[in-house]
Parts: sequence; C-alpha cells; structure tokens
Amino acid sequence: MICVSLARGRHRYLLTELRHLGQQGVDLVELRLDCIQRKVQVKRLLADRPCPVIATCRRKQDGGHWERTEAERLTVLRTAIAEGVDYVDLEDDIAKSIPRFGSTRRIISFHDFKRTPDDLQGLHDYLADLDADVVKIATLANHPNDNLRMLELVRSSSTPTVGLCMGEIGTPSRVLAGQFGAAFTFAPFNPEKILAPGQIPWKQLCEMYRYDAITPSTKVYGVIADPVGHSLSPVVHNAACAAAGIDAVYLPFLVPKGHLGDVLKNSKRWPLAGLSVTIPHKENVVGFASSQGDSVEEIGAANTISFDDETRAMKVFNTDVTAAVAAIQASLAAQEVGFGGRLGLKTVLILGAGGAARAIAFGLKQQGVEVTIASRTVERSQTLAELVNGKVVEWSGRHRLPYDCVVNATPIGMHPKVNETPFEAKHLRPYMVVFDTVYNPENTMLVKEAQDVGCKVVTGVEMFVRQAAEQFKIWHGQEPPEGVMRMALKQATSSVRIIE
Ligand code: NAP
Repeated sequence: MICVSLARGRHRYLLTELRHLGQQGVDLVELRLDCIQRKVQVKRLLADRPCPVIATCRRKQDGGHWERTEAERLTVLRTAIAEGVDYVDLEDDIAKSIPRFGSTRRIISFHDFKRTPDDLQGLHDYLADLDADVVKIATLANHPNDNLRMLELVRSSSTPTVGLCMGEIGTPSRVLAGQFGAAFTFAPFNPEKILAPGQIPWKQLCEMYRYDAITPSTKVYGVIADPVGHSLSPVVHNAACAAAGIDAVYLPFLVPKGHLGDVLKNSKRWPLAGLSVTIPHKENVVGFASSQGDSVEEIGAANTISFDDETRAMKVFNTDVTAAVAAIQASLAAQEVGFGGRLGLKTVLILGAGGAARAIAFGLKQQGVEVTIASRTVERSQTLAELVNGKVVEWSGRHRLPYDCVVNATPIGMHPKVNETPFEAKHLRPYMVVFDTVYNPENTMLVKEAQDVGCKVVTGVEMFVRQAAEQFKIWHGQEPPEGVMRMALKQATSSVRIIE
C-alpha cells in the first residue's frame, strides 16, 4: 500500500488535494500539518475525509517544517487524536506523553539523517515497546546494503513496520517496501514538494514502478551507477516489462565505486535477477563474473549482468558493442549505405575515449572500419587506439582530416547544454555519416546541423534502445517490445525538458 504525503501551506489546497486523492481511490494519505503556515485547523481538515489519514506534524530536527512551539505541536497531535484521525505519527521521544485514545492507531517514528544505525533490531524493539501499532524507521543510507538491512528488518518484524532508507542510495527501500512486507511506503503527491531526500513521487511509484503489482515473487532488476539519478534505463525497462506482462521491477541503484563488490556478493538477498552496469563500474564488474558473453574479454568492459536463479553465478555481457553497430547498420541500410564498398564506411573519427567510445571503436573495428580517436585527454585516446589498432589525433586537430563517419562519444550537447556541439558544422560534408551517442535530447545540435548539411544521421536513442533491448533478451528470454522502449525513452527525454 502507498501512503501519499500531502504538504501544502494552506488548508484549502490541502483539502483540494485530499479530495482528489480520495477520488483516485488512494488507500492512505499523510497530512503534513507542519507545512501549514497558519494556525492548524485540525477539525476542518479531518471532517468528511474521503480516505484514511495519518496526522503528522514534524519538527525541523526530524526533517519537518514546524516553526512554532513544541506545546502547540503536541496540541495539534492531541486534537487530531480527539477528532478520531485514523493514524497519528508520534516521534519516539513524545510517544509516552501522548497516550492511546479512541480508535486512532499509533505510528511510532524515528529518524536519523546521518546514518542507518548498526542495531536496527534493538531500535525496532524499543519503538515497538512504546505502544506502537506501526513502527516507522527512516534513516539515511550511506551504503547500498543499508537498504537490505532495513528491508530484512521489515520482513522479520511481527509489529507492522515501515522501514525506509533516505537519500538517493535508499531509493530501492522505498520501491521494494511491499515486497518485504512493509505496512506501507510513503510517496509525495507533488513532485515539486519532495519531503525527504530520495523520495519517489506517487505517480511515478504507481505508473513507472507499478508498486502495487510488486509481490515477493517479483524479480528485481536495476542499473548500478554513480551517479544514477539521470538514468533513463528504469523508464525504458519498466515500460518494456509492463508491456510484455513480465513480473519484474527495475530500479536505480546508486552504488559508489568502492561498494560494487559488497552489492554483488549480496545479490541473493535482494533478490537480484539482473543488472545494467554503467559509470564507473563497467570495467571493474568484469573481475566479479564467473563467465562472459562475446567481446567482454577483448573490450575489458561489460554493461549487463545476469544472475543464475539457482547457482547465483554471474555472467556479464556487453550489449553496447552490438547496439552501436546495429544502430549504424540499420540507419545505413535505410539510407542504402553499408559498411565497406563504394558508398560504405571505411574510416571513422570517434570523439571521446571513454566507455561508449570504446564499445563503438571495438564494434566498428570488427566491421573492418579504420578507427581514429580524438579525445581531450590524449593518453586515453592512445590506450583506446591501441586496443583497436587505430590512430590518434589531437582534440584540437579533430576537424582536419576527411572521415566517412564522425561519432560523438562525449557528453557534449547533452541536456542542459544543448547549444554545444563537439564538431563544427562548417567541417561536416554531405557524404558523412554522423552518429551522436547523446540521447537526451535526441536531436542534438550536432544532429540538427548534420541533417541540415545532408549527412546520414544516427542518433543516441537508436543505440540506447538497442542496448536495452539486448539486455531484455538476455534477462527475459523473449523478444523485447522495442517500439514501447523507444517511445518510453522519447517521452522521458521530452518531459525532462518540459518540466525544467
Ligand atoms: P565516459 O567514460 O566518462 O567518457 C566520456 C568521454 O568524453 C571522455 O573521453 C571525456 O574526456 C570526454 N569528454 C567529457 N566532457 C568533455 C568535454 N567537455 N570536451 C571534450 N571531451 C569531453 O562516458 P561514456 O560512458 O563514454 O559516455 C559518453 C557519452 O556517451 C555520454 O554522455 C552519453 O551521452 C553517451 N552514451 C550513450 C549511450 C547510448 O546508448 N546512446 C550509451 C553510453 C553513453 P576526458 O577523458 O578528458 O574526461
């Protein structure tokens, strides 16, 4: 069950949103009374409520907005109980001073904004003993496995429990709460009024993560990265699973560099079925694998993990290589051009020498294309050029030589710096193929300028969808709904720009 949190400064907005949520069939709403700017009219807010409500009035020290006296706050909470509110949220230190009354159920809550304490069980026992109907623990996750400790506590508790990890690392604990048997999870109604770090807006939790459909048997997938907040893989994979009727959820896992091994060792506890891997783990992850798909050894990087259900053996794949080549091939075929031959690609200039550049350089080399690398950091260009037996040009000299194809494998042109391009338009020629790996936006400045010149163009969306589609095949053993994936990606990239 999702409890939708409402935080508005004025009674009338709060009531409008509460009525709206009632009409939407929401099971539980939290009224954050601490956000109300005037004297709190508890009776008015609780009269004719369309669904069960939690009355919460948070102090600043617990992450709230309450600025008046503690005595006034306690009066607000006592009044809510006297008015028969369905649940009242009481922090542990005031739980004893506000006794049980009527039918109101008591949520005894505890917050730690610095860490997730080691002794979560001891903390839970202490809170449950404060005459709790529901125990609520919200702590900052500093390590991805803090989520696990919290979720396992929730699953083992006999008292109904809500255990959430705050911060971006803690996002999985919010989405998987129901899978581990939590009484409910919290989600803010309004995406602009996020109340605690790492919260997921209600609509997103319902529509993208399909929270209510997650059960203990739902398979868990995700992307491990740092940073991970910008990743559109959850949008694409969750949409694909929903369309294909697959019982799976795909999450963003913020995994800092040093924590990769800990996360992989504990994969069974989540339980993880597969992972996408991106910056900064693509290379390190290979060392943890028991087996590898094509190209991983030669390229030294993987972007996909699949865990065996029984043995938990970890196999890694690189779907970037096939995706990049397939994206170019499809685009060239549509434009009646192929690799090699009179009209085909013989030479490519790749801008950038990171993970994307490496996959593309490797894939094109396999197709017999002569690769030249231009990167800001010349040592990285040299390392990559050696891998593919290619050439290096200085970043400043990238416009000089003629190439059949130019690939942007840098973030230049990516949202929000959409007015930047890594390759000046005056050096583009109509015979060139221009491949921009940036997918947000799809129509980068480089793409637009290349189209104006009459170049054949391949966009980052085509590569992104193909690498995700390959992952889908590996994990779910069936043909991916590529059209759904492409549409989800395009909608997400356009909505990011509309919101901002
Ligand atoms: P990465 O490993 O961090 O490599 C980034 C490369 O870009 C490095 O060579 C870096 O040079 C260079 N670079 C960064 N900022 C630059 C700037 N302002 N001027 C010149 N060079 C700059 O990242 P990656 O994983 O390869 O990703 C690169 C881009 O590819 C991403 O931004 C993304 O848009 C795109 N991508 C697309 C897909 C897809 O499926 N469409 C998949 C992966 C990546 P230094 O070494 O000097 O920092």
